[in-house]
Amino acid sequence: MCIFCKIINKEIPSNIELENDDFLAFHDINPKAPVHILAIPKLHVDSFNEVTPQMMSGMTAFIQEVAKKVGIDKSGYRVITNIGENGGQEVGHLHFHIIGGAKLKWGHF
Ligand code: C5P
Repeated sequence: MCIFCKIINKEIPSNIELENDDFLAFHDINPKAPVHILAIPKLHVDSFNEVTPQMMSGMTAFIQEVAKKVGIDKSGYRVITNIGENGGQEVGHLHFHIIGGAKLKWGHF
């Protein structure tokens, strides 16, 4: 079972921000900004390459809800999903980084 599936099953502890039947949002253990939350589907999907429009529909609403809950929706934030080796994906379970709480830099290549 992958590490994020273990977090979903509460076999590994995490700092949960929001949860519903289909999605989980928890704080990244190695935050890159004052707010750094990961939003994941409870159904295991390897990466964005495999996600369906149906799942993205729910995920979009969920990410918006998380941003509102932590109070970064008005100030602005970034949503990132890393895909595969060149994308820098380290965990093979689809996740969206929700990053904010500060003015973010751009162009880190
Ligand atoms: O996009 P990428 O796969 O590189 O991101 C994985 C993220 O998962 C990292 O930011 C890492 O800090 C985070 N992580 C976590 N809790 C774990 C394992 C990884 O928050 N137990």
